[in-house]
Amino acid sequence: MSTEKLPTRSENFSEWYNQVIQRAEMADYAPVRGCMVVRPYGWALWENIQQALDKRFKATGHVNAAFPLFIPMSFLEKEKQHVEGFSPELAVVTIGGGEKLEEPLVVRPTSETIIGYMYSKWIKSYRDLPVLINQWGNVVRWEMRTRLFLRTLEFYWQEGHTAHATAEEAVEETVRMLNVYTDFAINEAAVPVIPGKKSETEKFAGAVDSYTIEAMMGDTRALQAGTSHFLGQNFARAFEIQYLDPNNSLQYCWTTSWGLSTRFIGAIIMTHGDDQGLILPPRLAPIQIVVVPIYKNDQEQSKVFAAVQQVEKQLSAWRFKVDLRTEVTPGFKFNDWELRGVPLRIEIGPKDVDHGVVTLARRHLPGKAGKSTLPVDQLSIQIGNVLDEIQAALLERATHFRDEHIFDPNNYEELKEVVQNGWAFSWWCGSAECEARVKEDTKATTRCMPLDQPEGKGTCIVCGKPAQRKVYFARAY
Ligand code: AMP
Ligand code: ZN
Repeated sequence: MSTEKLPTRSENFSEWYNQVIQRAEMADYAPVRGCMVVRPYGWALWENIQQALDKRFKATGHVNAAFPLFIPMSFLEKEKQHVEGFSPELAVVTIGGGEKLEEPLVVRPTSETIIGYMYSKWIKSYRDLPVLINQWGNVVRWEMRTRLFLRTLEFYWQEGHTAHATAEEAVEETVRMLNVYTDFAINEAAVPVIPGKKSETEKFAGAVDSYTIEAMMGDTRALQAGTSHFLGQNFARAFEIQYLDPNNSLQYCWTTSWGLSTRFIGAIIMTHGDDQGLILPPRLAPIQIVVVPIYKNDQEQSKVFAAVQQVEKQLSAWRFKVDLRTEVTPGFKFNDWELRGVPLRIEIGPKDVDHGVVTLARRHLPGKAGKSTLPVDQLSIQIGNVLDEIQAALLERATHFRDEHIFDPNNYEELKEVVQNGWAFSWWCGSAECEARVKEDTKATTRCMPLDQPEGKGTCIVCGKPAQRKVYFARAY
C-alpha cells in the first residue's frame, strides 16, 4: 500500500477515484488504451454483483446461455439505427489465421443481432414464446473517453434478450427488468437509483423505448447505471423473428434487451467512498468483516490469539478475514482495510479479552462515532444486525445526499446554476431542441423521465411551451 496521501474528493474527485481503485487493488490499467484489468478484489465484488442479479433473473423466469464473440459485419447492418449508433464504436476483425476474411467480423458491442439471428431459427410457434435468455460475458465498444469501470473499451456485463408474442408482454418485461435493476441497486448496493425513461436522443440505437436507472455520484454527476430496452419489432423484422399464432398466421415477435455492466462497480465506489477510500455495502463486500488482533508482547499475543479463534468460530456465516500480518502495525492495518472499504472491523486487544468483549469499528463512521463493544459470545447473534444497520445507513446517507442535490429551478437561469452542482428536476416539452440547448449551455443532458410523475402539467423550463412530464437534467459520466 502506498503511504502517500490520497487526494481528497473535494480537491479532485476524478483523481481520488482513479487512485482509490488502484490502491485498493480493484483494477489496473491494461497496456491497451481504455482497457482495464479487473484484479481479484474487484472481481470478487463483481462476482457478488453477478450472484445478486442472477438470482433475480432466475426468479423472474430467465435462463443463461452463451452466444459468440464474433458477429458477421452484415448482421450489424440489418438494423439501420443500430448500425448507425454502433459503427463508430466497432472493433472489426479482418484477418484470421493469416488470411484476409471474406467477411469482416465484428467483436460484439452488444448481441441483439446475433441473438436475433438465432431466435429466428428457434422460434416457430406461439408455443415457443416467450424466450427469456440472459448471457454473462464481455463486449467491446471503441470508446473515446474512458475511465476505469465507468467506461472501458472492453467491459463485462450481462445482457438479457427476450422475445414475446405481444407488445404488451414485451413492455411489461422491459419494465420488470428495470424494476429488478432498481431493486438490486437499492437493496444490495445501497445505491438509490431513479428509474425512468430515456429521451429519444438518449435512447439505445435500435430501441423504441429505453429505460434506465440513474444514480447520483459523490460529485453530483449522474451515471446511467443500467438500462432496459423495449425494441418493438425492429430487430424481429431485421432478423425475421416470426411465429405462427394460434390462428396459424405469421407474426413478428416483440423483443427486449437489458444490460448492467462493471460500470456498476464505479457507481458503488463513487456513491459511498470517502477521503479514506472505498466504503463497500455489506451485502456485496468481498470481505464484510476484518479482524485485527492487537498485542505488544508474547504474553498478550497468546491471550489475544485465543480470543481470535473464538471470534472466528462465531463469524463462519460471514465473509471475514483475520489480518495476522506481523510486519505492519495495527494502525497500518486499520488504514489499509479502510482504504479497501471493508464495512466492519473487529479489534481485539488484551483489554478487550479481559472484559470478554471485542471492539467494533464501522467503516462509514470514522473515529469514535463508529465504535462500540460487543461481548464475544454475542457476536454470532449480533453481527448480522450490525451489518444490516450499516447497509441501511449507507442507503440513507446516499439518499439524503441525492435529495439534497436535486433542485426544482424556477426558470432557465436558475437551471443553468443548479446543474453545476446538482440535478434539476423540471418540466420539459419533450423537444430535442430544448434538450440540445441545455446541453450546449451547461453540458447537462436529460437523464430520465421518472416513471412516477408528479400530478398535473407545467411549462417547459427552456421554451415555456406546455409540458406533460418532468425530466432530470444533469451533467453525466
Ligand atoms: P447499452 O447496451 O448501451 O444499453 O448498455 C448497457 C449498460 O452497460 C449501460 O446502461 C451502461 O451501464 C453499461 N455500459 C455501456 N457502455 C459501457 C462502457 N463502455 N463501459 C462500461 N459500461 C458500459
Ligand atoms: Zn421546450
